[in-house]
Amino acid sequence: MKKFGRSTGFAVSTLVAAMSFAGMAQAGITDKDILADQMTTDDVVSNGLGPRGQRYSPLDKLNTETVKELRPVWSFSFGGEKQRGQESQPMVKDGVMYVTGSYSRVFAIDAKTGDELWEYNARLPDGIMPCCDVINRGVALYGDLVIFGTLDAKLVALNKDTGKVVWKKKVADYKEGYSLTAAPLVVKGKIITGVSGGEFGVVGKVEAYDAVTGDIVWTRPTVEGHMGYIWKDGKKVENGISGGKAGETWPGDLWKTGGAATWLGGTYDPETDLMFFGTGNPAPWNSHLRPGDNLFSSSRLAIDPDTGKIVWHFQTTPHDGWDFDGVNELISFDYEEGGKTVKAAATADRNGFFYVLNRENGDFIRGFPFVDKITWAEGLDDKGRPIFKEGGRPGNPADAKEGKKGESVVSAPSFLGGKNWMPMAYSQDTELFYVPSNEWAMDIWNEPVSYKKGAAYLGAGFTIRPMNEDYIGVLRAIDPKTGKEAWRYENYAPLWGGVLTTKGNLVFTGNPEGYLMAFDAKTGEMLYKFNTGSGIVGSPITWEDDGEQFVSVVSGWGGAVPLWGGEVAKRVKHLNQGGSVWTFKLPK
Ligand code: CA
Ligand code: CA
Repeated sequence: MKKFGRSTGFAVSTLVAAMSFAGMAQAGITDKDILADQMTTDDVVSNGLGPRGQRYSPLDKLNTETVKELRPVWSFSFGGEKQRGQESQPMVKDGVMYVTGSYSRVFAIDAKTGDELWEYNARLPDGIMPCCDVINRGVALYGDLVIFGTLDAKLVALNKDTGKVVWKKKVADYKEGYSLTAAPLVVKGKIITGVSGGEFGVVGKVEAYDAVTGDIVWTRPTVEGHMGYIWKDGKKVENGISGGKAGETWPGDLWKTGGAATWLGGTYDPETDLMFFGTGNPAPWNSHLRPGDNLFSSSRLAIDPDTGKIVWHFQTTPHDGWDFDGVNELISFDYEEGGKTVKAAATADRNGFFYVLNRENGDFIRGFPFVDKITWAEGLDDKGRPIFKEGGRPGNPADAKEGKKGESVVSAPSFLGGKNWMPMAYSQDTELFYVPSNEWAMDIWNEPVSYKKGAAYLGAGFTIRPMNEDYIGVLRAIDPKTGKEAWRYENYAPLWGGVLTTKGNLVFTGNPEGYLMAFDAKTGEMLYKFNTGSGIVGSPITWEDDGEQFVSVVSGWGGAVPLWGGEVAKRVKHLNQGGSVWTFKLPK
């Protein structure tokens, strides 16, 4: 009896402990945690430090006075034989960092010590077709799951404590050219993903999956003419054709292989309850084959997270003939004008223009060039549509004497863009956007092409070249109200990493030369730099633990530039590859 009594007492207390533990574990990361992410400085549980993607932290222990004392506390190697581009943004929750590496790998790391807790390595088939290196841009966290997309176009949910697979879903067929590289977005218990594959004539789409079970909720194609679907009680139900009609802004059947890949993922604004996804180039690149606006390519789409319906669209490059591929992130922000709060959103497009939109309805507020040279358009009209420049578009191969190669033109920006995937940041203190951009041009010409499943579908040739001897990359501080450049930092190699800004009046980013750099957010003065041993093409984060502020960034040169960069690739071929994550703090 005595024994029983004692063991009962023991059992009760363990049960209580187990219950509270189970309660916590079951709840895990909630929608509320994700919505509050920007203000909760002890964790980073969303891509972009909050679903709006501002990449702004209210932390200020690190500031223009203290940042010079910043120093590394640990570095963790992703290992593996092949070190390639590392474009991930780490996440941090309860002292654990979750970060992806090249070749669809996920690591859980003790955020204090850099010790590995587990690694998940997706076994990729031989036939994957990533256009632009074997990169990944990070995980999503929900409940007790760590969720990411793979290069063979699957979503994989792992248990956060063990790294074991909880569910796995095929999003698309990698043999058609689809892959996943973006960090998934979490909205109202759903995992929202886009797809990559615009160079292979795929049909872009945005899809929602139940975060807990992995069951599909809705699918929304981003090429006009394709049917969307929603699942009700397990049944697939038609949910309206994207754009209302099949291929209205496309000739013939070209909409069936129209591209418009949603390869960068999206942001979410809880105030308007809209998700914003960019769409990539129309396929093929040779625009003479597809007269028309080619909706919804090179656009921003506002999508209802509950139904997948397109609420509004804004097309930055109608009839894109340069692979301007405007997937760039649309960041929600408010500003005061004429005594009123404007609910705006801004995007810096690959085509060289910066746009400020009304995020409630997609109306164009203003736009301006953010790069030094734009050859293909005179400017924007009062609706934000580009005014095409005569002779700016590469010639039609059908007009060529040999019938092979159309007239070549010099175009700026190059197709790698005034700004590519690397996310900009918005400071609520300076009210400036910090835009990682590049100054480069290309020779581009068109060639005949026809669609073949799983083959590159371009109909174009190109050579990218630098425009200046001293620099290609330019980190710019841009005032979204005036279009004025408050300051700039010029970098020899092209910039390819994301930006972070903080209440400490700092702007952090990295460069392919390997440096993590910190700038004064108001003046652009460089206050700190540290070489991580390989190029930085990922996005830095900051958080605090026990009253100390930390900064982390992945290091590993790669991505699209070495593969597609022509003369620029030659200029930076001395840069060494790598694969690691670095964490910094101030000394105690
Ligand atoms: Ca947080
Ligand atoms: Ca493209």
